[in-house]
Amino acid sequence: MVLEIDKLNVKFHLEPIVVKAVRDVSLKIKRECLALIGESGSGKSVLGMSILRILPENAKVEGKIIFEGKNLLELKEKEMRKIRGSRISWIPQNPATSLNPVLKVGFQVSEAMIEHGIGKNFAFEKTLKLFDSLSLRPAEEKAKNYPCELSGGMKQRVLVCMGISNDPDLIIADEPTKGIDVVKRNAVAKLFQKLKDVSSLLLITHDLRFAEKLADRVAVMYCGQVLEIRDADEFFKEPLHPYSKALLNSLPPKLVPIKGSSPSMVNPPKGCSFHERCDYVKEICREEVPNGEIKCWLYA
Ligand code: SF4
Repeated sequence: MVLEIDKLNVKFHLEPIVVKAVRDVSLKIKRECLALIGESGSGKSVLGMSILRILPENAKVEGKIIFEGKNLLELKEKEMRKIRGSRISWIPQNPATSLNPVLKVGFQVSEAMIEHGIGKNFAFEKTLKLFDSLSLRPAEEKAKNYPCELSGGMKQRVLVCMGISNDPDLIIADEPTKGIDVVKRNAVAKLFQKLKDVSSLLLITHDLRFAEKLADRVAVMYCGQVLEIRDADEFFKEPLHPYSKALLNSLPPKLVPIKGSSPSMVNPPKGCSFHERCDYVKEICREEVPNGEIKCWLYA
């Protein structure tokens, strides 16, 4: 087991309302690629950020996130800094705004290692090797570039170099294909295949076809809850939860829209969070929250 999340709840206090972004989520991440999928606004990125404790100050996080026997939510910030970017790294969703525009990209990748105690020369040599392995060539030349001199795909590869530079145990990638066209998406998929070889990967994405290419297991998020956790092959062959079925049916070639709209995260529905949109709704669904790996009373 690489990381275990137990009964995680995240609320944002936005006077006078409270947004319940993650509700009672338990999840285990093994040495694998686990894709956390679901529509935008379902709480996926908030869950990822709560692992690294990079949420804004108005977030209240409860539960446990166990990594190497320690609850990350109880660590002092100093201890957390040693883990962040070193043992667990984060690849942000927007390469264009995530690099420092006034620093050379090679320096930025080396810095990520130097911060964690690696010597300057070794860090720079490793940066060049990483650049070369991800086809940022010629590496010495690319390392001297500023972010504005690189294409979007190259910037993303620089961020991946940064993410893997300290040989982390877990990489969390937030929406790596957001705003990327189909051709470039294949290149990103190849890049992430390489990542799977070096580390466990928590892939946060609304892009189901991208998840299908990479994931070993899938966790489906909806309205702050995980509704289904399955092996990816089985899931994409036959999703079980009615929301998962609707999600896959909304893709080409079927293109059947999911009826209704996502519920409020301020006042989430009582019982099953999907009951207002579900064709199979029963009386119990409106009253009681289903439990288990498939959170649906059809499988209880
Ligand atoms: Fe539908 Fe009921 Fe299952 Fe919810 S618990 S998905 S409402 S059948």
